[in-house]
Amino acid sequence: MTRLLDFAVALRQSRALLAREREPFSAFQQQRFDTLVEHARRRSPFYRDWDGAPLDKATMMEHFDAIVTDPRLRRDERYLGDYRVMTTSGSSGLKGLFVYDRAGWTGIMAQFLRYSATVGIEPRFPRRLRIGAVVSPTGTHMSRRCASAVDVGVHRVLGLAVTQPLREIVSRLNAFQPQSLNTFPTMALELAEEQRAGRLRIAPELISTSSELLTPEMADRIEETWCVRPYSLYATTEGLWGVDCEHHAGIHLFEDMVRVENVDEHGRAVPDGAPGAKLLVPNLFNFVQPLLRLEIADAVTIAAEPCACGRTLRRLESVAGRAHDVLELGDVRVQPLHFGVIARDRDVVEFQVVQTGPSSVRVLVVARGDVQARLRERCSNGCAGWA
Ligand SMILES: [Zn+2]
Repeated sequence: MTRLLDFAVALRQSRALLAREREPFSAFQQQRFDTLVEHARRRSPFYRDWDGAPLDKATMMEHFDAIVTDPRLRRDERYLGDYRVMTTSGSSGLKGLFVYDRAGWTGIMAQFLRYSATVGIEPRFPRRLRIGAVVSPTGTHMSRRCASAVDVGVHRVLGLAVTQPLREIVSRLNAFQPQSLNTFPTMALELAEEQRAGRLRIAPELISTSSELLTPEMADRIEETWCVRPYSLYATTEGLWGVDCEHHAGIHLFEDMVRVENVDEHGRAVPDGAPGAKLLVPNLFNFVQPLLRLEIADAVTIAAEPCACGRTLRRLESVAGRAHDVLELGDVRVQPLHFGVIARDRDVVEFQVVQTGPSSVRVLVVARGDVQARLRERCSNGCAGWA
Protein backbone atom coordinates (compact mmCIF):
# COMPACT_ATOMS: atom_id res chain seq x y z
CA MET A 1 0.00 0.00 0.00
CA THR A 2 2.79 2.39 0.96
CA ARG A 3 4.62 1.51 -2.24
CA LEU A 4 1.57 2.22 -4.35
CA LEU A 5 1.05 5.52 -2.58
CA ASP A 6 4.70 6.54 -3.10
CA PHE A 7 4.37 5.56 -6.73
CA ALA A 8 1.31 7.79 -7.13
CA VAL A 9 3.10 10.75 -5.52
CA ALA A 10 6.18 10.20 -7.71
CA LEU A 11 4.02 9.93 -10.83
CA ARG A 12 2.28 13.23 -10.06
CA GLN A 13 5.62 14.88 -9.36
CA SER A 14 7.17 13.59 -12.59
CA ARG A 15 4.19 14.80 -14.63
CA ALA A 16 4.45 18.28 -13.10
CA LEU A 17 8.16 18.38 -13.98
CA LEU A 18 7.56 17.11 -17.52
CA ALA A 19 4.89 19.74 -18.06
CA ARG A 20 7.30 22.61 -17.50
CA GLU A 21 10.41 21.26 -19.24
CA ARG A 22 10.19 24.01 -21.85
CA GLU A 23 9.94 26.82 -19.30
CA PRO A 24 12.80 28.60 -17.54
CA PHE A 25 13.64 26.79 -14.34
CA SER A 26 16.34 28.91 -12.69
CA ALA A 27 14.03 30.74 -10.26
CA PHE A 28 12.44 27.47 -9.16
CA GLN A 29 15.89 25.86 -8.83
CA GLN A 30 17.29 28.79 -6.82
CA GLN A 31 14.33 28.73 -4.46
CA ARG A 32 14.78 24.99 -3.80
CA PHE A 33 18.52 25.47 -3.32
CA ASP A 34 18.01 28.31 -0.81
CA THR A 35 15.55 26.16 1.15
CA LEU A 36 18.04 23.28 1.21
CA VAL A 37 20.94 25.49 2.33
CA GLU A 38 18.85 27.01 5.09
CA HIS A 39 17.75 23.55 6.25
CA ALA A 40 21.36 22.27 6.18
CA ARG A 41 22.66 25.27 8.15
CA ARG A 42 20.01 24.75 10.79
CA ARG A 43 20.00 20.97 11.11
CA SER A 44 23.39 19.66 10.00
CA PRO A 45 26.38 20.36 12.31
CA PHE A 46 28.72 20.03 9.33
CA TYR A 47 27.03 22.83 7.41
CA ARG A 48 26.41 25.22 10.31
CA ASP A 49 29.14 27.57 9.09
CA TRP A 50 29.27 26.50 5.46
CA ASP A 51 31.29 28.91 3.33
CA GLY A 52 30.27 27.48 -0.03
CA ALA A 53 33.19 25.03 -0.29
CA PRO A 54 32.72 21.97 -2.49
CA LEU A 55 32.54 18.51 -0.94
CA ASP A 56 34.32 15.42 -2.22
CA LYS A 57 33.21 11.86 -1.55
CA ALA A 58 36.04 11.08 0.91
CA THR A 59 35.12 14.12 3.04
CA MET A 60 31.46 13.22 2.80
CA MET A 61 32.16 9.75 4.16
CA GLU A 62 34.52 11.05 6.85
CA HIS A 63 31.95 13.53 8.16
CA PHE A 64 28.88 11.45 7.43
CA ASP A 65 27.50 11.61 10.98
CA ALA A 66 27.81 15.40 11.13
CA ILE A 67 26.28 15.93 7.69
CA VAL A 68 23.03 14.02 8.17
CA THR A 69 20.18 15.99 9.68
CA ASP A 70 18.81 13.08 11.73
CA PRO A 71 21.09 12.87 14.81
CA ARG A 72 20.16 9.19 15.31
CA LEU A 73 21.72 8.29 11.98
CA ARG A 74 25.29 6.95 12.12
CA ARG A 75 27.59 5.76 9.40
CA ASP A 76 28.71 2.65 11.29
CA GLU A 77 25.49 1.66 12.98
CA ARG A 78 22.44 -0.09 11.76
CA TYR A 79 20.39 2.18 9.55
CA LEU A 80 16.99 3.21 10.68
CA GLY A 81 14.13 1.39 9.06
CA ASP A 82 12.58 4.56 7.67
CA TYR A 83 15.50 5.23 5.33
CA ARG A 84 16.60 3.84 2.03
CA VAL A 85 20.32 3.40 1.75
CA MET A 86 22.13 3.46 -1.58
CA THR A 87 25.80 2.79 -2.15
CA THR A 88 28.00 3.71 -5.05
CA SER A 89 29.67 0.76 -6.69
CA GLY A 90 33.09 1.50 -5.25
CA SER A 91 34.83 0.98 -8.61
CA SER A 92 36.68 4.21 -7.90
CA GLY A 93 38.04 2.65 -4.72
CA LEU A 94 35.87 4.46 -2.21
CA LYS A 95 32.38 3.40 -1.34
CA GLY A 96 29.82 6.17 -1.04
CA LEU A 97 26.75 6.01 1.15
CA PHE A 98 23.54 7.84 0.30
CA VAL A 99 20.53 7.93 2.59
CA TYR A 100 17.01 8.92 1.47
CA ASP A 101 13.86 9.46 3.47
CA ARG A 102 10.45 8.82 1.93
CA ALA A 103 10.18 12.21 0.28
CA GLY A 104 13.75 12.04 -1.01
CA TRP A 105 13.20 8.58 -2.44
CA THR A 106 9.96 9.69 -4.08
CA GLY A 107 12.10 12.33 -5.81
CA ILE A 108 14.38 9.60 -7.17
CA MET A 109 11.36 7.61 -8.35
CA ALA A 110 9.98 10.73 -10.02
CA GLN A 111 13.23 11.00 -11.99
CA PHE A 112 12.90 7.38 -13.05
CA LEU A 113 9.29 7.93 -14.17
CA ARG A 114 10.29 11.10 -15.97
CA TYR A 115 12.97 9.22 -17.91
CA SER A 116 10.41 6.48 -18.66
CA ALA A 117 7.89 8.99 -20.01
CA THR A 118 10.55 10.77 -22.09
CA VAL A 119 11.59 7.56 -23.86
CA GLY A 120 7.95 6.45 -24.31
CA ILE A 121 7.53 3.89 -21.54
CA GLU A 122 3.98 4.85 -20.52
CA PRO A 123 1.31 2.75 -18.83
CA ARG A 124 -0.72 0.90 -21.47
CA PHE A 125 -4.18 -0.59 -21.08
CA PRO A 126 -5.61 -3.13 -21.26
CA ARG A 127 -2.47 -5.00 -22.31
CA ARG A 128 0.41 -3.92 -20.11
CA LEU A 129 3.77 -3.01 -21.62
CA ARG A 130 6.38 -5.80 -21.38
CA ILE A 131 9.67 -4.44 -20.09
CA GLY A 132 12.82 -6.56 -20.15
CA ALA A 133 15.46 -5.19 -17.77
CA VAL A 134 18.91 -6.77 -17.79
CA VAL A 135 20.51 -4.90 -14.92
CA SER A 136 22.88 -5.13 -11.97
CA PRO A 137 22.42 -8.10 -9.64
CA THR A 138 23.15 -5.86 -6.63
CA GLY A 139 20.11 -4.64 -4.74
CA THR A 140 21.63 -1.33 -3.73
CA HIS A 141 22.49 -0.43 -7.32
CA MET A 142 20.38 2.43 -8.65
CA SER A 143 19.17 0.67 -11.79
CA ARG A 144 17.99 -2.35 -9.84
CA ARG A 145 16.33 -0.45 -7.03
CA CYS A 146 14.41 1.80 -9.38
CA ALA A 147 13.25 -1.03 -11.61
CA SER A 148 11.74 -2.80 -8.62
CA ALA A 149 10.43 0.35 -6.89
CA VAL A 150 8.21 1.26 -9.81
CA ASP A 151 7.16 -2.35 -10.44
CA VAL A 152 3.70 -1.92 -8.93
CA GLY A 153 1.77 -3.77 -11.58
CA VAL A 154 1.51 -0.97 -14.15
CA HIS A 155 3.89 -2.79 -16.50
CA ARG A 156 4.96 -6.39 -16.86
CA VAL A 157 8.62 -6.45 -15.92
CA LEU A 158 11.14 -9.24 -16.49
CA GLY A 159 14.22 -8.49 -14.38
CA LEU A 160 17.41 -10.33 -15.28
CA ALA A 161 20.93 -9.90 -13.93
CA VAL A 162 23.77 -9.11 -16.34
CA THR A 163 25.77 -11.75 -14.50
CA GLN A 164 23.45 -14.59 -15.57
CA PRO A 165 24.80 -16.80 -18.37
CA LEU A 166 24.16 -15.15 -21.75
CA ARG A 167 22.39 -18.25 -23.06
CA GLU A 168 19.92 -18.03 -20.20
CA ILE A 169 19.30 -14.29 -20.74
CA VAL A 170 18.68 -14.93 -24.44
CA SER A 171 16.21 -17.73 -23.83
CA ARG A 172 14.29 -15.78 -21.15
CA LEU A 173 14.05 -12.74 -23.45
CA ASN A 174 12.88 -14.93 -26.34
CA ALA A 175 10.10 -16.33 -24.18
CA PHE A 176 9.09 -12.91 -22.77
CA GLN A 177 9.32 -10.85 -26.00
CA PRO A 178 9.97 -7.45 -24.37
CA GLN A 179 8.51 -4.36 -26.06
CA SER A 180 10.98 -2.25 -24.12
CA LEU A 181 14.54 -3.34 -23.40
CA ASN A 182 16.64 -1.63 -20.73
CA THR A 183 20.22 -2.62 -20.03
CA PHE A 184 23.86 -1.55 -19.98
CA PRO A 185 25.32 -0.53 -23.38
CA THR A 186 27.84 -3.38 -23.34
CA MET A 187 25.07 -5.89 -22.66
CA ALA A 188 22.92 -4.32 -25.39
CA LEU A 189 25.82 -4.87 -27.80
CA GLU A 190 26.18 -8.50 -26.75
CA LEU A 191 22.46 -8.99 -27.25
CA ALA A 192 22.69 -7.30 -30.66
CA GLU A 193 25.27 -9.88 -31.72
CA GLU A 194 23.02 -12.66 -30.41
CA GLN A 195 20.17 -11.23 -32.48
CA ARG A 196 22.34 -11.02 -35.59
CA ALA A 197 23.45 -14.63 -35.08
CA GLY A 198 19.80 -15.65 -34.99
CA ARG A 199 19.82 -16.95 -31.43
CA LEU A 200 17.97 -13.95 -29.97
CA ARG A 201 14.66 -13.17 -31.67
CA ILE A 202 13.05 -10.10 -30.12
CA ALA A 203 11.59 -6.93 -31.61
CA PRO A 204 11.70 -4.18 -28.98
CA GLU A 205 10.02 -0.86 -29.86
CA LEU A 206 12.07 0.97 -27.26
CA ILE A 207 15.64 0.52 -26.11
CA SER A 208 17.38 2.44 -23.39
CA THR A 209 20.76 1.97 -21.79
CA SER A 210 22.18 3.16 -18.50
CA SER A 211 25.13 3.02 -16.08
CA GLU A 212 27.82 3.11 -18.74
CA LEU A 213 28.72 5.40 -21.58
CA LEU A 214 26.73 4.81 -24.77
CA THR A 215 29.03 5.85 -27.60
CA PRO A 216 27.63 6.86 -31.02
CA GLU A 217 29.23 3.71 -32.47
CA MET A 218 27.40 1.56 -29.94
CA ALA A 219 24.11 3.36 -30.63
CA ASP A 220 24.62 2.80 -34.40
CA ARG A 221 25.18 -0.90 -33.91
CA ILE A 222 22.05 -1.23 -31.77
CA GLU A 223 20.00 0.75 -34.30
CA GLU A 224 21.31 -1.35 -37.21
CA THR A 225 20.16 -4.46 -35.38
CA TRP A 226 16.64 -3.51 -34.23
CA CYS A 227 15.87 -0.33 -36.22
CA VAL A 228 15.42 1.50 -32.93
CA ARG A 229 17.67 4.36 -31.81
CA PRO A 230 18.55 3.70 -28.15
CA TYR A 231 18.06 6.32 -25.47
CA SER A 232 20.80 6.88 -22.95
CA LEU A 233 19.86 7.29 -19.31
CA TYR A 234 22.31 9.08 -17.04
CA ALA A 235 21.50 8.21 -13.43
CA THR A 236 23.86 8.85 -10.55
CA THR A 237 23.46 7.72 -6.96
CA GLU A 238 24.31 11.31 -6.03
CA GLY A 239 20.92 12.25 -7.47
CA LEU A 240 21.74 13.79 -10.85
CA TRP A 241 19.70 12.22 -13.64
CA GLY A 242 19.05 12.90 -17.27
CA VAL A 243 18.10 11.34 -20.58
CA ASP A 244 18.32 12.30 -24.23
CA CYS A 245 15.20 13.42 -26.07
CA GLU A 246 13.75 12.27 -29.40
CA HIS A 247 16.54 14.19 -31.21
CA HIS A 248 19.23 12.05 -29.52
CA ALA A 249 21.50 15.08 -29.41
CA GLY A 250 22.91 14.74 -25.90
CA ILE A 251 21.49 13.94 -22.49
CA HIS A 252 19.15 16.59 -21.02
CA LEU A 253 20.02 17.00 -17.34
CA PHE A 254 17.09 17.14 -14.91
CA GLU A 255 18.41 20.44 -13.56
CA ASP A 256 15.18 21.44 -11.90
CA MET A 257 15.82 18.70 -9.33
CA VAL A 258 19.59 18.95 -9.03
CA ARG A 259 21.65 22.09 -9.52
CA VAL A 260 24.64 21.44 -11.79
CA GLU A 261 27.97 23.28 -11.93
CA ASN A 262 30.62 22.16 -14.40
CA VAL A 263 34.13 22.98 -13.11
CA ASP A 264 37.77 22.38 -14.01
CA GLU A 265 40.16 20.36 -11.83
CA HIS A 266 40.76 23.40 -9.58
CA GLY A 267 37.04 23.89 -9.03
CA ARG A 268 36.72 26.93 -11.30
CA ALA A 269 33.54 27.24 -13.32
CA VAL A 270 33.80 26.34 -17.00
CA PRO A 271 31.41 27.88 -19.54
CA ASP A 272 28.95 25.78 -21.53
CA GLY A 273 30.67 24.38 -24.60
CA ALA A 274 34.01 23.87 -22.82
CA PRO A 275 35.17 20.60 -21.24
CA GLY A 276 35.08 20.36 -17.44
CA ALA A 277 36.84 17.99 -15.04
CA LYS A 278 34.01 17.30 -12.61
CA LEU A 279 30.49 18.32 -11.71
CA LEU A 280 29.35 19.93 -8.47
CA VAL A 281 25.79 19.08 -7.54
CA PRO A 282 23.39 19.42 -4.69
CA ASN A 283 20.48 17.01 -4.83
CA LEU A 284 17.63 19.46 -4.21
CA PHE A 285 15.27 16.89 -2.72
CA ASN A 286 17.49 15.05 -0.24
CA PHE A 287 16.99 16.81 3.09
CA VAL A 288 18.26 13.97 5.30
CA GLN A 289 21.75 14.04 3.87
CA PRO A 290 22.16 17.51 2.38
CA LEU A 291 25.11 17.48 -0.01
CA LEU A 292 25.83 21.02 -1.11
CA ARG A 293 28.18 21.22 -4.08
CA LEU A 294 29.07 17.51 -3.97
CA GLU A 295 31.69 16.41 -6.51
CA ILE A 296 30.76 13.91 -9.19
CA ALA A 297 33.92 12.75 -10.95
CA ASP A 298 32.45 12.92 -14.46
CA ALA A 299 34.39 14.92 -17.03
CA VAL A 300 31.72 16.38 -19.28
CA THR A 301 31.02 19.15 -21.73
CA ILE A 302 27.64 20.87 -21.45
CA ALA A 303 26.22 22.01 -24.78
CA ALA A 304 26.14 25.79 -25.27
CA GLU A 305 23.29 25.70 -27.80
CA PRO A 306 19.68 24.96 -26.91
CA CYS A 307 18.20 21.70 -28.20
CA ALA A 308 15.84 21.65 -31.18
CA CYS A 309 13.17 20.05 -28.97
CA GLY A 310 12.70 23.29 -27.02
CA ARG A 311 13.49 21.91 -23.57
CA THR A 312 15.30 24.41 -21.37
CA LEU A 313 17.26 21.67 -19.57
CA ARG A 314 20.87 21.80 -20.68
CA ARG A 315 22.45 18.81 -22.45
CA LEU A 316 25.60 16.80 -21.94
CA GLU A 317 27.41 17.23 -25.22
CA SER A 318 29.99 14.64 -24.29
CA VAL A 319 30.93 12.55 -21.31
CA ALA A 320 34.58 11.60 -21.23
CA GLY A 321 34.04 9.16 -18.41
CA ARG A 322 34.65 9.14 -14.71
CA ALA A 323 37.81 11.02 -13.82
CA HIS A 324 38.97 8.10 -11.71
CA ASP A 325 39.00 5.92 -14.80
CA VAL A 326 41.49 8.19 -16.56
CA LEU A 327 44.86 6.54 -17.07
CA GLU A 328 48.03 8.58 -16.81
CA LEU A 329 50.56 7.23 -19.31
CA GLY A 330 53.64 9.38 -19.18
CA ASP A 331 52.41 12.79 -20.31
CA VAL A 332 49.31 11.41 -21.96
CA ARG A 333 45.93 11.25 -20.24
CA VAL A 334 43.85 8.41 -21.63
CA GLN A 335 40.07 8.58 -21.22
CA PRO A 336 37.98 5.40 -21.22
CA LEU A 337 36.42 6.65 -24.45
CA HIS A 338 39.73 6.07 -26.21
CA PHE A 339 39.14 2.36 -25.86
CA GLY A 340 36.04 2.72 -28.04
CA VAL A 341 37.94 1.30 -31.01
CA ILE A 342 38.16 -1.94 -29.07
CA ALA A 343 34.72 -1.81 -27.46
CA ARG A 344 32.89 -1.29 -30.72
CA ASP A 345 34.56 -4.16 -32.59
CA ARG A 346 31.77 -6.65 -33.22
CA ASP A 347 33.97 -9.64 -32.37
CA VAL A 348 35.16 -8.32 -29.03
CA VAL A 349 33.20 -9.95 -26.20
CA GLU A 350 34.99 -8.23 -23.34
CA PHE A 351 38.26 -6.52 -22.66
CA GLN A 352 40.36 -5.31 -19.80
CA VAL A 353 43.08 -2.68 -19.70
CA VAL A 354 45.97 -3.34 -17.33
CA GLN A 355 48.57 -0.68 -16.69
CA THR A 356 51.95 -2.43 -16.83
CA GLY A 357 54.32 0.50 -16.37
CA PRO A 358 54.44 4.30 -16.14
CA SER A 359 53.76 4.60 -19.85
CA SER A 360 52.48 1.23 -21.01
CA VAL A 361 49.33 -0.82 -20.88
CA ARG A 362 48.37 -4.35 -21.81
CA VAL A 363 44.95 -4.86 -23.31
CA LEU A 364 43.42 -8.28 -22.69
CA VAL A 365 40.66 -9.17 -25.12
CA VAL A 366 38.17 -12.01 -25.19
CA ALA A 367 37.03 -12.29 -28.80
CA ARG A 368 35.26 -14.46 -31.29
CA GLY A 369 37.93 -15.27 -33.86
CA ASP A 370 41.22 -13.53 -34.50
CA VAL A 371 40.98 -9.80 -33.95
CA GLN A 372 44.54 -9.08 -32.92
CA ALA A 373 45.87 -7.73 -36.22
CA ARG A 374 42.77 -5.62 -36.82
CA LEU A 375 42.77 -4.07 -33.33
CA ARG A 376 46.49 -3.45 -33.40
CA GLU A 377 46.15 -1.53 -36.63
CA ARG A 378 43.14 0.47 -35.47
CA CYS A 379 44.77 1.36 -32.17
CA SER A 380 47.89 2.67 -33.82
CA ASN A 381 45.79 4.70 -36.31
CA GLY A 382 43.07 6.01 -34.06
CA CYS A 383 44.77 6.44 -30.74
CA ALA A 384 48.20 7.80 -31.54
CA GLY A 385 50.03 8.64 -28.38
CA TRP A 386 48.94 5.73 -26.29
CA ALA A 387 48.97 2.57 -28.37
ZN1 LIG B 1 16.13 17.85 -26.76
